[in-house]
Amino acid sequence: MNELNMSHVYMNYHTLKGITEALKDISFSVYNGEFISIVGPSGCGKSTILNIIAGLLAPSSGNISIDNRSLNDSYLKIGYMFQKDQLFEWLTVWNNVLLGLRIQHKLTEENKNKVKKLLTDYTLWDFKDHYPNQLSGGMRQRVALIRTLALNPSVLLLDEPFSALDYQSRLSASNEIYKIIKLENKTAIMVTHDISEAISMSNRILVLSKRPAILKKDITIKFDEKFDSPLKRREAPKFRLYFNDIWEELDISE
Ligand code: ADP
Ligand code: MG
Repeated sequence: MNELNMSHVYMNYHTLKGITEALKDISFSVYNGEFISIVGPSGCGKSTILNIIAGLLAPSSGNISIDNRSLNDSYLKIGYMFQKDQLFEWLTVWNNVLLGLRIQHKLTEENKNKVKKLLTDYTLWDFKDHYPNQLSGGMRQRVALIRTLALNPSVLLLDEPFSALDYQSRLSASNEIYKIIKLENKTAIMVTHDISEAISMSNRILVLSKRPAILKKDITIKFDEKFDSPLKRREAPKFRLYFNDIWEELDISE
């Protein structure tokens, strides 16, 4: 994938109570290898954007394309990770990470070896016979990510992936997940309501307004090379400047 493009997307939900306007004229592009975060007040339409990109929802109007092809005939695969890791408690780590491949009838030796390598590279191989409830929250998220990566998606969508974790686990999980995404050369779009998390992981941050969401700002994040991980970035002098910049844009008043 070179470019994912959202162009003039509007989304209205029709319910018994009437129409909820969720998105209003949202346009942006995401380029290969980027890590984009979408921040905005609760209920503004962030998950709606990911669901539209995933093809789970059709926008009321506007277009989404990947490399100038519409989502429908796009040959690209999209991986989706949620706040809850959606691991199956009755399956071992190994069977959880193979699940997607099994469902898609792609359980070849070659693919199994790839998954084995992912588990080994990211220090989970020793836990392959464990069950999810024997793992920490951060490890569970890594297993969920590897299950998604097993299908070799071109774009990863992450919806508040760390919000079920406590603060300390959240810091280390975001550091680990970031590392995996970078080493595997994946393009990622993450929704979060945590400004610090967004700054620590992204090269660009899209700031949305209150519902109906309009795109208020598209901020490029750049740190000196020595700040090469989310944890180190939090120590960078520029971190606070970005934080204040985004804080001022965010409209979280009731
Ligand atoms: P966010 O992820 O930013 O918290 P969402 O994208 O989930 O927000 O929702 C945006 C708005 O659309 C909210 O007001 C929500 O109640 C409404 N909404 C979301 N999904 C539906 C749906 N399936 N039907 C009706 N309204 C919905
Ligand atoms: Mg949401």
